[in-house]
Amino acid sequence: MRRWNGWGDASVQMRLSPAGQALLKQRIGDGRTAPDYPLDKFLARLPESRLPRHPLVTADPRLRLECAHGQSLPDWIRLRGGTLASFPDGVARPETQGDIQALLAYAADHNAIVIPYGGGTSVAGHLEIHEAERPVLTIALGGLNRLIGIDENNLLATFEAGILGPELEAHLNSKGFTLGHYPQSFEYSTLGGWVATRSSGQQSRYYGRIEQLFAGGEMATFKGQLKLPPFPASAAGPDIRQLVLGSEGRMGILTRAIVKISPLPEVNDIHGVFFPSWDDACQAVQTLAQSQIPLSMVRLSNPLETRVNLALAGRERQIKWLRRYLKLRGIDPKPACMCLIGYIGSQRQARAARSEAALIVGRYKGVTIGKRIGSAWKKNRFRSAYLRNTLWDLGYAVDTLETAVNWDRVTDTMAQIESRLEQALDSANASILVFSHLSHIYATGSSIYTTFVFRRADSPGTTLENWRKLKQAASRAIVEAGGTISHHHGVGRDHSRYLEAEKGPIGIQTLNQVFNYLDPHRQMNPDKLLP
Ligand SMILES: Cc1cc2nc3c(=O)[nH]c(=O)nc-3n(C[C@H](O)[C@H](O)[C@H](O)COP(=O)(O)OP(=O)(O)OC[C@H]3O[C@@H](n4cnc5c(N)ncnc54)[C@H](O)[C@@H]3O)c2cc1C
Repeated sequence: MRRWNGWGDASVQMRLSPAGQALLKQRIGDGRTAPDYPLDKFLARLPESRLPRHPLVTADPRLRLECAHGQSLPDWIRLRGGTLASFPDGVARPETQGDIQALLAYAADHNAIVIPYGGGTSVAGHLEIHEAERPVLTIALGGLNRLIGIDENNLLATFEAGILGPELEAHLNSKGFTLGHYPQSFEYSTLGGWVATRSSGQQSRYYGRIEQLFAGGEMATFKGQLKLPPFPASAAGPDIRQLVLGSEGRMGILTRAIVKISPLPEVNDIHGVFFPSWDDACQAVQTLAQSQIPLSMVRLSNPLETRVNLALAGRERQIKWLRRYLKLRGIDPKPACMCLIGYIGSQRQARAARSEAALIVGRYKGVTIGKRIGSAWKKNRFRSAYLRNTLWDLGYAVDTLETAVNWDRVTDTMAQIESRLEQALDSANASILVFSHLSHIYATGSSIYTTFVFRRADSPGTTLENWRKLKQAASRAIVEAGGTISHHHGVGRDHSRYLEAEKGPIGIQTLNQVFNYLDPHRQMNPDKLLP
């Protein structure tokens, strides 16, 4: 069963290794714990629904609570601290496209705000409710989860948009195919949510981001059904699919998506490499990105993230052995950077890619340590998200943020984001643990993904205020560096005020005009994406 106030399946617990606990204590001090606000108190204080009855809409308190938030840190602080105050008036769980049109008509009749809800894994405030005047209807898409068809000849598959990652992959794998889209939230996020937030999976280097995988589909809007044919390519004017991608519920509800699929690969291995310094590692990764060697992923941790990852791994004897081995190979473990490199395809393609990549790794003094670390990472790749629960219970709050910049600015931008975060709570004399990695690399640049951990405060209000200071400091550093405010988490509420810096006033107005046409009464997930 899914946790009501945290991440993932309630039966899954991730232990924090003693080395991990010691590192946290040494860097930021003992955690500060407080009991969570209880579920029954929440359910007892939900306000009366303002929506009239409809056969597809329920006012069930538990569902209204579940749909009132995503998985951002502010969502967690409000949930766990009991300060979450806005809830949808009703939740609908449609099962057909006809149901969705009926629900939009009902929302139009009652001037209700409509919030499309996929898997509820947003980490940027996409599902927050801010308007108090109008009733809010959340349309939860979990019932729209069918496979419509797999077109093996054209390598396309059509699904209803509420399908979850594991269900989608199970359908495709049973026929020998894959979508290859694995965000860390894979277990609970949906195809429609991926499209609506421009999501990126861990193996996007090979399979592409969702923008490359989304071939077409259908969107229900207040103006009618918008159809997006799956042309392999087209010169017929601007591509409407690109507007639907990243529309965050502002245009309408994606009901079906057609996606590009690939045959399951023969080999899908991840190898570990250690570089003696960040500069060597970053140059190696840039060279790999520009070499066109077919790789499934390249994930480069900076020195502190490397140390944190090794501490969290908990296998002290093996880590000691690894450190000794690296020293023997001339690598000082302190400034060393761990890099995971994925090889994929047929045996022959993977072998060729490995030997090409080895030349580049060697040129930058990298030492390959084989598949063990990569296999462990792959095994836990959806599990590490559960550490957020463990850390919270130990009294720490953790959040992540991400951007993308061109290669010439990667190192400086990472340093700026980290130092602004480290200083953001100086006035409160609070230390922050901050580390980063590059995980999506392109010929022209890279994403930067930064994690920050800080101690919870005495009250949820102060923890939230501290988060705001941290988030603002990092977001400003991103904007000043000319980075995008999000490489893959999307805009939601948390990033909307920074969007104009990259779209410009004309760009923002253009988007506004499109949304106003499709949604003249500003009912579709208002206050998200655009400020
Ligand atoms: C632990 C964790 C790890 C994560 N890792 C990644 C990662 O590796 N890569 C990544 O890209 N993201 C990641 N995310 C962020 C999140 O999972 C993605 O943004 C995901 O795409 C959201 O999908 P969802 O189905 O949960 O959508 P929701 O959170 O339910 O909704 C997100 C937005 O999309 C809209 N929406 C949802 N479905 C539809 C639809 N059918 N039609 C129209 N609008 C819709 C909603 O209105 C909302 O604005 C992670 C989140 C968590 C909590």
